Amino acid sequence: MKPASTVAKPGGGKETGSFDVERVRADFPILSRLVNGKPLVYLDNAATSQTPRQVIDAERRYYEEINSNIHRGVHHLSGEATSAYEGAREKIRRFINAREAAEIIFVRGTTEAINLVASTYGRSKIGAGDEIVLSTMEHHSNIVPWQMLCDATGATIRVTPVTDSGELDMEAYERLLGPRTKLVALVHVSNALGTINPAARIVTAAHEHGVPVLLDGAQATPHMRVDMQELDADFYAFSAHKMYGPMGVGVLYGKRTLLESMPPYQGGGDMISSVTFEKTTYNRLPHRFEAGTPNVGGVIGLGATVDYLEAIDLDLAAAHEAELLEHATGLLEEIPGVRIVGTARRKSSVLSFVIGEIHPHDIGTILDQQGIAIRAGHHCTQPLMERFHLPATGRASFGIYNTKQEAEALAAGIRRVIEIFG
Ligand code: PMP
Repeated sequence: MKPASTVAKPGGGKETGSFDVERVRADFPILSRLVNGKPLVYLDNAATSQTPRQVIDAERRYYEEINSNIHRGVHHLSGEATSAYEGAREKIRRFINAREAAEIIFVRGTTEAINLVASTYGRSKIGAGDEIVLSTMEHHSNIVPWQMLCDATGATIRVTPVTDSGELDMEAYERLLGPRTKLVALVHVSNALGTINPAARIVTAAHEHGVPVLLDGAQATPHMRVDMQELDADFYAFSAHKMYGPMGVGVLYGKRTLLESMPPYQGGGDMISSVTFEKTTYNRLPHRFEAGTPNVGGVIGLGATVDYLEAIDLDLAAAHEAELLEHATGLLEEIPGVRIVGTARRKSSVLSFVIGEIHPHDIGTILDQQGIAIRAGHHCTQPLMERFHLPATGRASFGIYNTKQEAEALAAGIRRVIEIFG
C-alpha cells in the first residue's frame, strides 16, 4: 500500500495528506438526502454504489452536447461521440493495465460478461465429459451460465469448497484441476462474505494444467487495483455500477489470443466486416463482440468513473475502507447475539451477520426506519447460504464515502433491533 501522498482531489485542487472522506462525500449528491426523516446511511455498496457528480456530469454532457451513434457516422457529432467512447476504452485499459484496448469489451455488466464467455468460449471449446471448476461462494451469475452450458454440452461443474471462515479450500481447488478441466471460473472478492480470494495462486495453479481462468471481479474493482498483466487472468468481468459508475455498463477483459479464437456472441450491426446472404465476415476486436448500438453515454460515464477513482487515489481509499471494516467489525463483535458470517484473513468491505433467530429482512426493515440501508437476503449466493446453514444474512457493505460515525450508527441500529425483538 502506498503511503499518504499528494492527492489530486476531485472537485478541488491538490491537497497533501491522507484520505479526506468529507471531501469525497461532497461529490455524491445523494448522500445529503434524508430517508425516513433521517440522514441516509448508505451501506448497500456491494449491490450498487452511489455516483459522484463528476460522473453524472460526464453522462449529462454526453446527452447535452454529443449524443449520436458511433463508428459509422460521417457527421461531426458522431465523430466526437466515437472519440469519447473509444477514449473511455483506453482509460479502462490503462486502469486495469490490459495490454491493448482491443481486449476491453463493453457489455451490460458482470452478468453479461460471464454469459458472453459461456456462450462463445464455452460453446466452442467445452464438450461432453469436460469439467468447469467453480466454488461454493459464487454469485448466481457465475453459476447459472455454466449450468446452462453443461445442460447443452454434457460438461460438468466441479465445486471448490469453502472453509468455516469463508475462505476457498485451496488444496481442494488444486486437487480438482486435472486433464478434464477446461475452465476455472471463480469470484475474486465474495459479495456475500467479503473474502478476497488468492487470485494469483488460483491463476498459477490453473495455468500449470493449461487451463484458462475467468475471474468475477464485480466486487474487486471498487476496492482495489487490479492489474491484468500481473494477475494473468484470461478473462476478467466487472460492472460500472458497483464502482461508482453508471448502471447498464460493464467490461469483459479477455486476452487477445482467446478472444480471437472465440466465435461472436450476438449478431448485428457493428460486429461485422461484410454481410451477404451467402456469407458474413466479422469485424476485428473488440467490435466483433459489441453488436448493435452500445450504451455510449454509460461507457463515457465509466471513463469518467475511472478518472475519478484515479484522482482520489484508490490505494488511500482502500486504506480508509480497511479501517472502517475493522472499526465496524469490532463494534458488531461487542453486541451479544450478533454473529459475523465470513471471517477470512483477507477481506474487503463487506460485513455479513445474523442475530439469533431474527430474520434478516426484519433487521433490514428496522434499520431502514433509521435511514440505514443494508441488504438482507441470500445475496444471489444460495449455495453459499446453504453451506453455512442459513437462509439469509444481513449485509452491510462499505464504500469510499462511508464514515466511522456511520459504522457506529449501524451498531446502534442493530442494538435497537435487538431491543425491539427482546
Ligand atoms: N458477481 C458478483 C460477485 C456480484 O456481487 C454481482 C452483483 N451482485 C454480480 C456478479 C452480478 O453483477 P451485475 O448484476 O452487475 O451483472
